[in-house]
Amino acid sequence: MPHSSALQILRDVFGYPEFRGRQAEIVDTLAGGGSALVLMPTGGGKSLCYQIPALLREGTAVVVSPLIALMDDQVAALRAAGVHAAAVHSGTPPQTVRDLADDIREGSLKLLYVAPERLVSERFLRFLDHTAVSLFAIDEAHCVSQWGHDFRPEYRALGLLAERYPAVPRIALTATADAETRADIKHYLHLQSAPEFVSSFDRPNIYYQIIEKNNGKKQLLDFLKRRPAGDSGIVYCLSRKSVEDVAAFLCENGFNALPYHAGLSMDTRSANQSRFIREDSIIIVATVAFGMGIDKPDVRFVCHLDMPQSIEHFYQESGRAGRDGLPAASWLCYGMNNLVLLKERIQESGADDWQKQIEIQKLNAMFDVCETAGCRRQLLLRHFGETSEPCGNCDNCLHPPERFDATEDVQKLLSCVYRVGQSFAAGYVINVLRGKDDDWIRRNGHHTLSTFAIGAKRSDKDWRAIVRQCIGLGLLDNDTANHQALLLTPAARAVLKGEQHVMLRTLKREKSATQVPQKSEWLRTEREERLWQALKQWRSERARADNVPAYIICGDKTLQSIVQTQPETSDALHQVYGLGDAKIDKFGSEILEICRSIGSETDSGGSAFRLPESPAKQSENPEDEFLHSSRDRALWQALTQWRGETADAEGCPEHSICPDDSLRDMVAFTPETDADLAAVYGLGAVRIAKYGAAILEVCQPYARSLPPEAKRERATMRRLNRWCADTARAQELAEHQILSKITLRALAARRPQTLPELQTVHGINEEKSERYGAELLALLAEAEEAEAE
Ligand code: ADP
Ligand code: ZN
Repeated sequence: MPHSSALQILRDVFGYPEFRGRQAEIVDTLAGGGSALVLMPTGGGKSLCYQIPALLREGTAVVVSPLIALMDDQVAALRAAGVHAAAVHSGTPPQTVRDLADDIREGSLKLLYVAPERLVSERFLRFLDHTAVSLFAIDEAHCVSQWGHDFRPEYRALGLLAERYPAVPRIALTATADAETRADIKHYLHLQSAPEFVSSFDRPNIYYQIIEKNNGKKQLLDFLKRRPAGDSGIVYCLSRKSVEDVAAFLCENGFNALPYHAGLSMDTRSANQSRFIREDSIIIVATVAFGMGIDKPDVRFVCHLDMPQSIEHFYQESGRAGRDGLPAASWLCYGMNNLVLLKERIQESGADDWQKQIEIQKLNAMFDVCETAGCRRQLLLRHFGETSEPCGNCDNCLHPPERFDATEDVQKLLSCVYRVGQSFAAGYVINVLRGKDDDWIRRNGHHTLSTFAIGAKRSDKDWRAIVRQCIGLGLLDNDTANHQALLLTPAARAVLKGEQHVMLRTLKREKSATQVPQKSEWLRTEREERLWQALKQWRSERARADNVPAYIICGDKTLQSIVQTQPETSDALHQVYGLGDAKIDKFGSEILEICRSIGSETDSGGSAFRLPESPAKQSENPEDEFLHSSRDRALWQALTQWRGETADAEGCPEHSICPDDSLRDMVAFTPETDADLAAVYGLGAVRIAKYGAAILEVCQPYARSLPPEAKRERATMRRLNRWCADTARAQELAEHQILSKITLRALAARRPQTLPELQTVHGINEEKSERYGAELLALLAEAEEAEAE
């Protein structure tokens, strides 16, 4: 055995110095042959709890996971760390399945990811009967429970594993904590006697900020502008329409925002999702459906433009930020309308009264978190049954809201609610308080009430804030059976009688909107800053070249650790957080080269860094390096002019029309048809739909004068595209599942002639080469011949 202990594996394979929370105990339990139930919040590090025991034990670990995307992501991360792992699902070719079966028999495959329905099929079980299974891991185990929102009946069948394989340890993992779900998991998966490992639900690296809405989009923009540029994030909206609207608004303001909702085509959705996962600095604007099964550790912020319907929802959605443990922010903007709308929605749902009651309670608990003047985290954790001190990392802790004695205002409000018979909603009550000249009020005779116009000095907005806070404090309630009419609660009595004072948050809160701690504070010198930038650039180029998400290459925390240690030798690399043996083998020399080149610069000098064989190098003057002929210069000029005019017309910065890299690529590979456009770097479906026709028009006069070499590439690319589309159709897969555009481009440019050459092309792994290698080589040879004629 190459690895002696769990800790050794954690360090050598995964590159992390220490276990987190209860990971070590869990790993020990499993490695020793015991079963376990693990409750850990999202981002807590559940995967390592079974991955390390899988490496410690003989045989293959079988991991059940509900989503293909989730499996593929995990497998990619494991392979990047040098672990032999694979997933079998509907998209796996039969030959690969057969090969995997061989690897399992040999004992070389350490982890196999499968969907629950496949695992419990008799055929698969018969195969397992004769296999050394090291352990069963059941991820997202709350899917067995009807209490949760992700109930999957197939999960129930997993109970049979206990009887059929009594000697194999089982681990069930989930981030859903409530007692009913937990009981269901134990019952259905037969884990009654297994120890439970429950972690704190605190996410200390997430900074919480909640503000009242007055112009949500503008407030969002303010928040984003105060953040360091280039961060990835998610913005949640309630409706498809607002998703579209907000995404467009952010693009207009120079952000790289992409929409995501169920009304978009499958293609657009998957293109946007995969760009979000793979690229830096994309903001995805989405309905809450987005995010389930997306494991992107470096999401730096999650924004809500509307209040979620429960603390569980809020916690799960905001928890998608900062899974790498680095500072991240959760920002929420809420208004009274939210509460009213959500209550109405519950009332109108077909649920029974009991269920409605629960939903309303959950909604009120969320509203309390919004309205509290105390620590947000304390309130969130209390909801999950944890007690804690004020956290020091939320808006209220960092900038305690000023409060004032609002007893008199509140008394006016409460008595007005009383006088209008507790039958009118907030807007009406406020109009009466402010003495508005209104037909409806007159018809009701409310202009003669003693409370008419007693609140004229305060604005409508102030009164709304007071109403909201009174609801948050439990002095008022909405009558959901009567158009959200305001009702007095029993607690209102003491205030009306003058027995109790009421302190409210100061009504003008905008200036206390706080600065989010800046990520770059840890960068102390200019050189560190340059090294950081160079490493980030290297990572994104490397990721682009290898066609994987940037974080698979390495996480922000790893780059940070490199900047801080500035390693000079490969030994020193082993001290870097997040670099295991496999990654050091693969990237070590490049990282050292970058450190060396930045280290040797004088502090006043510019960056000397250049990635060897970098496909698209950055430079201040892109024209100089890329434009080889007068034709190139003319086309570059035509394209930049088109881009400038389009940006002016849309009132947005040029790079949000398309980045320089796209323009360079158009010069080098001038597109002539729609299919050509799709092969241009940085042009996704959205941009092609929007600008494709215009781009082709600009390029048209130059398409024919493309140099012969590039023409050849373009012709080959067209053949490859056709082949890819045909193959996808025949196999009922999406084109990108056959080969990505980047791989096709690389093939067209390099034109490998032999299998070994083919395998060096980015994105061609063993599996791809086995499946498509012969066809691709034949196709490329054909292209060569066609040209010779
Ligand atoms: P979960 O499945 O619980 O949401 P993951 O298993 O995806 O969380 O882990 C979240 C992130 O934390 C991943 O990037 C993972 O590599 C990292 N991680 C897990 N355990 C450790 C550890 N002991 N030290 C440092 N990082 C860790
Ligand atoms: Zn706090």
